[in-house]
Amino acid sequence: MRYLSTRGQSPLISFADMLLAGLAPDGGLYLPEAWPRFTPDEVAAFKGKPYQDVAEAVMGRLIGDSFSADELKADIASAYASFTDPRIAPLVAIGPDLYLMELFHGPTLAFKDVALQILGRLFARALKRQGGRATVLAATSGDTGSAAIAALGGLENIEVFVLHPKGRVSEVQRRQMTTAPYANVHNIAIEGTFDDAQGIVKALFAETDFAKAVSLTAVNSINFARIAAQAVYYFTAAAELGTAPLFVVPTGNFGDVFAGEAAWRMGAPVDKLWVATNSNDIMARALNEGVYEAGRAQPTLSPSMDIQVASNFERALFEASGRDAAWTREQMATFAADKSLTLSPPILADLRSRYAAMRADDAETLAAIAQVERETGRLIDPHTGVAVAAAFNLKLSKKVPVVVLSTAHPAKFPDAVNQATSRIPEVPPRLKAALEGEENCHVTAAEKGLVRGLIEAIVLRP
Ligand SMILES: *Cc1c(COP(=O)(O)O)cnc(C)c1O
Repeated sequence: MRYLSTRGQSPLISFADMLLAGLAPDGGLYLPEAWPRFTPDEVAAFKGKPYQDVAEAVMGRLIGDSFSADELKADIASAYASFTDPRIAPLVAIGPDLYLMELFHGPTLAFKDVALQILGRLFARALKRQGGRATVLAATSGDTGSAAIAALGGLENIEVFVLHPKGRVSEVQRRQMTTAPYANVHNIAIEGTFDDAQGIVKALFAETDFAKAVSLTAVNSINFARIAAQAVYYFTAAAELGTAPLFVVPTGNFGDVFAGEAAWRMGAPVDKLWVATNSNDIMARALNEGVYEAGRAQPTLSPSMDIQVASNFERALFEASGRDAAWTREQMATFAADKSLTLSPPILADLRSRYAAMRADDAETLAAIAQVERETGRLIDPHTGVAVAAAFNLKLSKKVPVVVLSTAHPAKFPDAVNQATSRIPEVPPRLKAALEGEENCHVTAAEKGLVRGLIEAIVLRP
């Protein structure tokens, strides 16, 4: 299996090279040259199988010969050994034909673990084979940082630097990052905003001499390996229910919901993919009004979805155009210049055949959390709450099972949960450990030169 760029001006490369590169050199995003396809019988046979077996089957076809079946098996087994629920992505009924798919049983209690735990292991394997070292640099406003640290902490030949805006992530999120007991993990609190932190990261990637000297790389959500790992749970849910479900996906960067499209293209039965956004509703506006336009990011109760631009949407556009790379390149150039893109009727129609979208503001999110608690006694986190609010609003004309992706454990967002239900979620032991550990963090002004100096001092030390 080889990987192409959505912008058509990068050479085809293997899964392992794509994994190490992340973004294509022409600025596009990687996708498989052709989607592998599972037959209905093969999908039906996934029912009742351990999650790990399905992951091996689905990811195996996407990985091709980059890793052996035994290598993949070993990495999947150890990635999911740390999950507290052996089903990895269990379905829980919360109403007639309404299910939560719980994706938060990994080490940092958010769904990003499902993909990053595998990605980290495959990354280390590919790096070892290629020889050399890598410096992973990321900016985070919350969950990505801790999930990346949990995935890459302690791995050989990798140094991890995570920038967060000082005082602007929740206490739980900060402690999950700063108490990580790994010598190769370096937290940097920037005296500024998330945009300042992200700006520094982008500027350092653009300093090519420096980037080359320290072998700078990223493991953010544009890496297709994450999509490959996330496609798996769409297969397991459809197989378990024995019919094509409607999935409601709390959406920020459009990675998780695009994994649903990937699964569908590979043969998973999917009735529809509902994109649920908070007030940062660029994707709801794009799909409902036909204009993809960046707004101003505003803080909400579901911070991991507070984005201005949904990077992975480029993949959906490329597919909707019938894989027209020249067209995709043009559209992304227009968007870069104008911060706005009007979707043509045929493109919009193609997207709407798979996707629909709805937004929920903080008040609707709190109401949904409260309703679930009232009806089932269960506490859900505010990201899940956004999607449940959308699910409650669906007026379905036919009976299909609705599966809401539950992306974070309620204990990660106790304030919002308490506001909605007057209850405080019980803290799981692994979170308690993070909350009590000793914190380690550099603090620096929001200047890229200072961050660069810090990285050089650690990576290039003799
Ligand atoms: C990252 C994240 C999301 C959004 O996922 P995307 O792939 O960016 O759309 C939703 N919920 C939680 C808890 C997250 O951490």
